[in-house]
Amino acid sequence: MNEIIYRTHNCGELCKKDIGKNVVLSGWIQKLRNLGSITFIDLRDYFGITQLILSKKLKKKNPELGKEFIIKISGIVGERVSKNYKIYTGEIEVFVSQLEILNYSTKPPFLIEDQTDGDEVSRMKYRYLDIRRNPIKNNLKLRHKISLEIRNFLSKNGFLEIETPILINHTPEGARSFVVPSRIHSRKFYSLPQSPQLFKQLLMIGGIDRYFQIVKCFRDEDARSDRQIEFTQIDCEMVFVNVNDILSFFENFIKHIFKEVKNIQLEPFKRISYSDAIKMYGTDTPDIQIDIKFLELKDFFFKRNSFFLKKKEFTMGVSIPNRSHYTCEKINFIIEQIKQKELEIETIFWLKYFPDKTFFSSMNSFMNNEEDLVKYFKANPGDLLFIFYGIKTEKKHKLNQLRLEIIHCLNLIEKRKKTLKPLWIIDFPLLEWNENIQKYKPFHHPFTNPKKEDVHFLEHFPENVRSQSYDLIINGVEIGGGSIRIHNKNIQNLILKHLGLSTKEIQSQFGFFINAFEYGVPPHGGIAFGLDRLISILEGKENIKEFIAFPKNNSGKDLMINAPYFLEKNKLKELNLLL
Ligand code: ASP
Repeated sequence: MNEIIYRTHNCGELCKKDIGKNVVLSGWIQKLRNLGSITFIDLRDYFGITQLILSKKLKKKNPELGKEFIIKISGIVGERVSKNYKIYTGEIEVFVSQLEILNYSTKPPFLIEDQTDGDEVSRMKYRYLDIRRNPIKNNLKLRHKISLEIRNFLSKNGFLEIETPILINHTPEGARSFVVPSRIHSRKFYSLPQSPQLFKQLLMIGGIDRYFQIVKCFRDEDARSDRQIEFTQIDCEMVFVNVNDILSFFENFIKHIFKEVKNIQLEPFKRISYSDAIKMYGTDTPDIQIDIKFLELKDFFFKRNSFFLKKKEFTMGVSIPNRSHYTCEKINFIIEQIKQKELEIETIFWLKYFPDKTFFSSMNSFMNNEEDLVKYFKANPGDLLFIFYGIKTEKKHKLNQLRLEIIHCLNLIEKRKKTLKPLWIIDFPLLEWNENIQKYKPFHHPFTNPKKEDVHFLEHFPENVRSQSYDLIINGVEIGGGSIRIHNKNIQNLILKHLGLSTKEIQSQFGFFINAFEYGVPPHGGIAFGLDRLISILEGKENIKEFIAFPKNNSGKDLMINAPYFLEKNKLKELNLLL
């Protein structure tokens, strides 16, 4: 047999101890530097880069050699004169004695190096070239490592990985579903799962104790840099658990992943109710790396009869640590910047609480409550307090914008990204009234269990009901969410009715699920984490596309295969889609 030997070593493994060895290497040409008498080549494969030296004669024999050509070489390992200690193979080079071109390449559209000149469009169009670059390749390796850790951890803890179907019917997760026409069943359609929600619940009804799946989900939404229409979830469900069981278990799970994969020891996860999060941060996805939160001051001023402040609907304050030394000019400059943002704030007052516990404030003339105020704020000497007067209650998101603006103006943004601050948001409302459709909509999804103490509101005041739900937020990014599920048939029916579904619609859309309630549904609950987002937060990056082998662009297109695409007429006919 005369089989080709492509390599004795890979391009990332030769070092000083291999000097003098005869080796065979195969790989792509990353760089060529022709110095006349010799030519240097950087040969790249999955494992690394090895420097080759070609004699003038050998180069002459292969004059066409260019970037991304694939070559196989034989040669002897020698010590490098000018060493590169940044790479493992940087102390050696290979003197090539034989060279064979295995394949040719045209000039690549962008630099296939760690620092590339390629823009996002060409990198997506030629994704296979982008994957040759270390940053993308390393992200895929990291993704593999995380997936492995997830599988190991969950398996060790009694979770069974079970696949659920992809061609299903629409299940309500709050987004639009992608549909797939059926050829055999004329005019009928499958939907792609927004998540395996009902299937994982049916697995619990089926007696499975703990389930997980690393699973593709599909949501027909506008894509963004942190959202893809096709994404991967770590989907989990457990039987006989309460909220605390789930939060504790998955806090350990997330901590384990961060520790194993990045050696990061996460601090204990804070828990904040949805309503507190809205009050303190104006959002249910707050980034708490910077400890700036609002304090409602209406009561404070009301009780003290402070004449005009008490009249306003909303008066909010924030206390900024260690900023009492700011000059009045600096404070006024910050106030001007904030005012330009049209956040519907009438006036901004401030108070400096100096380290020696004295005060200086912009509101001396009409208020003599400084001492009380700093107590109410629980402010520390050295803090700078702002009071925002005239924010309208219904504009909660403005509060979030205001908070971000303060963080920006005070240059606190630099402090972000250095620490990871995980946070559970709990007790979301069960339903919210949607003015446009004049119907209730679930805050999470319609299978979320109400909080026991609020169930009595369910029939007549459903908007007052909080749910047994939770989201995990890390540095302002929603990483996961879930709930304890309804296992009571009447509650499930009532919620579906609140969503505007008739008994007939409930039967036709969810009959299979509601019927299962006749056969003993165990109390159960679960959670799903976004794998793409989890990896990007682990790496401190915002663009999840960098961690997906073949991502879609921000308008949901795959630029490499040019999807989505038209269907030919005969195909449309076959699917009965042509009228
Ligand atoms: N199915 C939910 C989602 O995809 C997660 C859950 O409730 O477990 O957001």
